[in-house]
Amino acid sequence: MLRTVVAPNPSPLTLDGTRTYIVGRDRVAVLDPGSDDPDHLDAVAAVVGDGVVTSVLVTHQHPDHVAGASALAERFDAPVRSLRGKTLRDGQRMETDAGELVAVATPGHTTDHVAFHWPAEDAVFCGDLMMGGHDTALVAPPEGRLGPYLASLARIRALAPSVIYPAHGPPFLNPGQALDRYVRHRALRQEQVLRALTDGIGDYEGLLDAVYGGELDPELRRPAMAALKAYLEHLQGLGKVRRKARGWEVRER
Ligand SMILES: [Zn+2]
Repeated sequence: MLRTVVAPNPSPLTLDGTRTYIVGRDRVAVLDPGSDDPDHLDAVAAVVGDGVVTSVLVTHQHPDHVAGASALAERFDAPVRSLRGKTLRDGQRMETDAGELVAVATPGHTTDHVAFHWPAEDAVFCGDLMMGGHDTALVAPPEGRLGPYLASLARIRALAPSVIYPAHGPPFLNPGQALDRYVRHRALRQEQVLRALTDGIGDYEGLLDAVYGGELDPELRRPAMAALKAYLEHLQGLGKVRRKARGWEVRER
């Protein structure tokens, strides 16, 4: 049994709000308590009802996921489990009466990011690795890194889930196709960055315009700049580009 409560924290980066998932009915795990808005926490508690919460799980330490965790854990007298807090480890199993959840370390969005596999329902809760209804999610340095992110997408793919529940936006009902789109999007953007650098555009503003163009929502300019830096650092790691006095350039072979 899976129930969802959407937190009242909509924004361009959280879409319609953080999705708090409640897995199980009598013995329950609560995933990503979301904001600490009292009405939201009341709504989660109402859904849990007289169920016993076995754990409050946190996919990563961003405020839109963790802010309500300690208040909720106190209310239910349940432990908060997260990689950052070292109260969770890769492969750890959490009990619910709807089947167990298995922690899957998936760094990339942040270094401490963890997804949860739900084998009984052939499902994965992917946190912020993927954004429902979109083909990309934010990977921004210093905590976000593209190499680990791509490896994490591959790790999710290897589980071959039939549904993926993201922390923002609606579920992915064709996960294989969605993962293809996510990987393709990254490859395309990386190619665009490399092409712009090859064309002699090396400053951040110029690169941002070349890669994201006029389609960019002004509110997303900052996160897009951070994403651009993730591509540059990734390409640097691959030995394809290097920093210069002000900006970046292609590395001649
Ligand atoms: Zn989030």
